[in-house]
Amino acid sequence: MAKKTVADINVKGKKILMRCDFNVPLDDDCNITSDDRIVKALPTIKAILEGGGALILMSHLGRPSGQRDDKLSLTPVARRLSELLGKEVVFADDCISDETKAKAVALSNGDCMLLENLRFHKAETIKDKAAKEDTQLRQAKDDFAKQLAGMADIYVDDAFGTAHRDNASMYTVPMVMEGKPRVIGFLIEKELKFLGDALSDPARPFVAILGGAKVSDKIGVIENLIGKVDRIIIGGAMAYTFLKGRGKSIGRSLCENDFVDKGQALLNQAKEAECEVLLPTDHHVVRKLKSDVPYRTAVGDIDPGYQAVDIGPIASKMYREKIADAKTIVWNGPMGVFETPPFDEGTKDIAMAVAEATDNGAISIVGGGDSAAAVKNLGLEDRISHISTGGGASLEFLEGKKFICLEILDEK
Ligand code: AMP
Repeated sequence: MAKKTVADINVKGKKILMRCDFNVPLDDDCNITSDDRIVKALPTIKAILEGGGALILMSHLGRPSGQRDDKLSLTPVARRLSELLGKEVVFADDCISDETKAKAVALSNGDCMLLENLRFHKAETIKDKAAKEDTQLRQAKDDFAKQLAGMADIYVDDAFGTAHRDNASMYTVPMVMEGKPRVIGFLIEKELKFLGDALSDPARPFVAILGGAKVSDKIGVIENLIGKVDRIIIGGAMAYTFLKGRGKSIGRSLCENDFVDKGQALLNQAKEAECEVLLPTDHHVVRKLKSDVPYRTAVGDIDPGYQAVDIGPIASKMYREKIADAKTIVWNGPMGVFETPPFDEGTKDIAMAVAEATDNGAISIVGGGDSAAAVKNLGLEDRISHISTGGGASLEFLEGKKFICLEILDEK
């Protein structure tokens, strides 16, 4: 997927409509608690402004269900972006109003405008499957997309976090703009490079570390990775669905009973493909999950009445050894209930091991909000090759799924 980027086109004197992922976390007073997503969009934004383009930025924020919700306004993002750029960012308080269109016309080269939350309009999230089956929905989605597209000469997509969706701003807008330049930004370029290279041409050993709550969320990823990676390290609650299938007692640990057989089928598939799968051999267990509650370490079976909340020290040591010689690492999902210390220990150990392997030359890619947060909390960001901005998107990429909204953009 070698897509044209902003570097391949001339933006001077043009109006550029760019989809960003400014879905930033906010506190109760609508203050931005992490501006990471804004900062990561800056290289593309600056390149366009410095290249003499007039920039119209659009994004969603949260899930406002198709109507205005002042708590999910992008106003704080406009303010922060303006601080980061050191220049005024015009704010348009509805993304397709006549006033907004007039503001777009009035933009000069080097100006930057941010449109209000796209999801204040229902049409943004109409799925293409639904639109194909219902003419009214199709019309609503197309009409919304045409109004956005009508403001610009060039389309840029730099929102990796939503790249696996077919929202109007991601899919229908570039479809409507066929014939005009439609390219990716530097953030998506970086995501595709890291994830794409890892899957197509990995340095070996290639180790995948998967954790988190549910096996069902990661079946596609495991299936796709079995033929590609040398080892899969499994932690988090999802491990107990596999362990139950292996006949282990798992006490009250989370388990997806409907997926126990599928879990065993995956383990058999991995064995045939000579892909090593590691499951935790010991566990930190509690009677009731709360912060600083006393815990026990269970080796092998878990007693009834106890629930596993983290991998144990033996598993952690084994996992760290299996990560140490890796040359390519993808990690998605925590090893335990990492939000509730001290059950973040396993996740922290893994984060440290991934950083150390990276110091020794491995390419490491961390995806998913929880694992990325663990890396950041430990101050290890600079020791990871790439922290993906899209948890769901990076998982779907690892599943081998196609991103239709990127496929339609211009090839190099
Ligand atoms: P996911 O969204 O699938 O990446 O899962 C992340 C969630 O899994 C986090 O909220 C963790 O607290 C949770 N989790 C991880 N390990 C366990 C476990 N052993 N028991 C219960 N929840 C877990």
